[in-house]
Formats: sequence, structure tokens, C-alpha cells
Amino acid sequence: MSDIDNLRDRIDRITFDILKLLKERNDTAKEIGNLKNNMGLGVTNEQRENQLRSKVLSLCNEIGLDERAGLTALNFLLNESIKVQSTGKQTHLSVFLKAKELERQGRKIIHMEVGEPDFLPPASVKEALSEVYDMGYTKYGDSKGMADFREALSQHVTRIFGTKTNPQNIMVSPGARFSVFLAVSSLLSPGNEMIVIEPAWPAYRDNALNSGVKVRTIHTTLEKGWEPSPEDIENAVNQNTRMLVLNYPNNPTGKILPEKLLGQIMEIASRNNLYVLSDEIYSSYAFKKWKSVLSYEYDKSIVTQSFSKSHAMTGFRIGYAISEPETVDRMARLQALALTNVSEPIQYVAMKALGADTTDNSKAIKSRLEAVVRRAREIGLEFIEPDGAMYVFARINRPQFDSVEFTNKLLDYGVAVAPGEGFGNYQGFVRISACQPEETLNQGMDIIEEAVKGQK
Ligand code: PMP
Repeated sequence: MSDIDNLRDRIDRITFDILKLLKERNDTAKEIGNLKNNMGLGVTNEQRENQLRSKVLSLCNEIGLDERAGLTALNFLLNESIKVQSTGKQTHLSVFLKAKELERQGRKIIHMEVGEPDFLPPASVKEALSEVYDMGYTKYGDSKGMADFREALSQHVTRIFGTKTNPQNIMVSPGARFSVFLAVSSLLSPGNEMIVIEPAWPAYRDNALNSGVKVRTIHTTLEKGWEPSPEDIENAVNQNTRMLVLNYPNNPTGKILPEKLLGQIMEIASRNNLYVLSDEIYSSYAFKKWKSVLSYEYDKSIVTQSFSKSHAMTGFRIGYAISEPETVDRMARLQALALTNVSEPIQYVAMKALGADTTDNSKAIKSRLEAVVRRAREIGLEFIEPDGAMYVFARINRPQFDSVEFTNKLLDYGVAVAPGEGFGNYQGFVRISACQPEETLNQGMDIIEEAVKGQK
């Protein structure tokens, strides 16, 4: 055999050894996952990952492997473990689907699990829907969105958030969810890291996993008012970190960060040249002083917005992202690949909705939240009053409490809530959403009270 054949033979053997070891590693991770499950522990364990990370760095130095290559390979392995351990986790969506199935069987369910306002979209939407056919919006269009709509959105953003925004800064998307997907998938590469402050909407983590990106979790607690520690964020940054995700007002806690803390976090992001993905979908439900990340005029920020919550248009699937033109271009290339362009009739309808006054929606959610807060206090749930959004994230203070078991039991009694574990390591918590009329919410809270007190 020639030299090259010998070497190729060796490469084959090394590859097979790596794959055999990967299989052994995944099987072991699965066993650990089963134990964690039995012990009521969540999948993520940052402390444990950090221990392994520093051992890997020492090994890299010892054997002369580039640190970045070592950490990228480790991130791949850690994500493999997360995938094998994450099967069967319950989220607000899985509860919603179960609730829908029960309704099909004729059961009546009070929906306090999903974040979907029950109001109608603005009246201008109905009018626009009847006009759109004759307006001729029936063809393919620009992947970044219709010129008129981008212009209208840029003026709206400039007026509402006070930061000068141009049409080139806007990318129309089918909902904030898709903007988040585009940002993670087009701006990050496999092996990169993204910092997520938990509890968090699960899609940030799931998008990262889908793109081979490693999530670094910043755990926050009810005791500390859901405020992340800047030191924790700083310590999570390494040479692979590319993005920090923010979501205030927050789903599920309703938290709005104090301005000083937000400023500190933005400073860390800017010093480390990180993208800041700020999901501001609940900005019209901010009931305390709130500031958009746009006001920092940071060139690596991507702000996501949507008509889903503010205009009660969840089913229309329409939203937009605001960023620098180069970032918009990168995201739009993936959007063009995935869906050519967002449906123009829907863009037209949303453009007409933009002028509607939605303050009644905000007032209704505020007073419904207050009603849930009142009842939650009477019941003795542990939580901090939300500053915004549409949810109360509460701990049920009972020994051995399991939110998944509790959520399933409540579903049997006709109330759907979201289990805390869908938002991170928060097994003792549930998210109660305030998107129903007050009377319905009160009925739901009565049933929750009986279940908490063990009368059911
Ligand atoms: N971001 C957050 C924080 C959300 O809670 C949701 C929906 N629950 C979304 C984005 C998705 O919004 P959209 O309907 O615009 O895709």
C-alpha cells in the first residue's frame, strides 16, 4: 500500500473509533437523562457543563489542540446529550394540543396555557381583507416585504420607539417566531454559543439546537426578582459566543428589567461584539417604564415585533424584525430560500391594521392580569407581580410538587396551564395566562385553588 493509502486507512479507523465512542457517549447521556428524570431534575446543568469545559480546555493545551476547535467539538457533544435527554418534555404547546383534543371529545376547557388574546383583530382588518383581492396583491413579492409596508413600519417604529428607523432596517416575517428562526439560523454557525436568560420562551433554545448552536443558560430566580446577574452573563462569554437573547416584557415572568441593569447587559454585549436578539413582542403590554433595545442604537441588535399580541392577529402570522441593513439582508436570504416572500395579501391587511388604536387591548390585558394576581395572592401562590406581558409565573408551594403532574391533573378538571419545565429548570412553577375574560379567569382560578389545596 502507498503512503496515502496507509494514512487513509488510519483516518477510517479513527473515524470509526470516534463514532463508536459517540454511540457510547449518547447511551450514557440517556442513562443520566433517565436518572435526572427520576430525581425531578431538569436537563440543563450549567455547573456540570462548565466543569467539563474547563477540563477540555486543559486537555486542549496538553495535547496541542486549538482551543476553539476543542470547544466547538464539545458544544456538538453537549447538544447531542441535550437532544437525547430532552425527549417527552411538556411545554405550553403540548398542553394546548392535549386541551384541544379533549375539546374535540366534547369537554369544556378553560385556556390559561397559551398566550393568545381572545379579542378580535381591529375592524380595519375586516375591511382590508375584503379590499385585498381587487387591490391586485396576488403575485410573488420582495423577500424583505412590500416597499409600502416597510415604509409604514419604519415610520411606526420611529414614532413609537423614538429611534430613527428606515425601510432598509425592516424585514417583514410571518410572525416573530420566524424572525427568531431567521436570526439564529442565518447569523450563527454550528458550534457557536448563544446566551439565553431563563425562564424563557422555549423557541430560543429549540432554534439553537436546530442550528447546532450551544445555549449557555443564565438561571434567574423568583427570589432575585427574575433579574440576571451581569457577572453570570460575563462569565458565560467565551470565544465561541455570538449572541445574547433578551425578551422584556418577559414570557413567562412578565418582568421588565430596570434600565440600569439593561444598560449593563448591553455594555457586556457590545464589549464582546455579540448580537443582541431582543424579542419585544410584548412591548404594547408594558405596564411599567420600559425601553426598547433600539434606543441603544447598537449595530448588532435585532429587535423582533409582531401583530400577534398587540393586534390580536396570531392566526395571520405576521411580524417584522428591525436591524442593520446587512443583517436584514442575511436574514432575508434565508427567508427567500424558505418561503420566497411573506404573503402580500396578509402584509396589506397588517399595513391597514397598523393605524388602529390598540390601547383597549392593553387595558383589557392589564385588568385581567390584575384579576389573576389578586386570586393568585388569595390562593397563596408565590410570584412577583408582572410588569407586563400576559402571564403570571407562580410557584406552587407544596412539598414534592411536580408541575407536569399538576398540569395534567388540572386538565382533567377543565383548566389548562403551562408547566414551568417548558421554560427551563422550573419544575415547581406554572405559567397562568390572562387572555380570557375576567369571569372565565376567575372560574379557572377557583379550580386551581381547589387543586392546590388538594380538595380535588
Ligand atoms: N416571542 C415570544 C416571547 C412569544 O411568547 C411568542 C408567542 N407566544 C412569540 C415570540 C411568537 O409570536 P408570533 O405569533 O409573532 O410568531
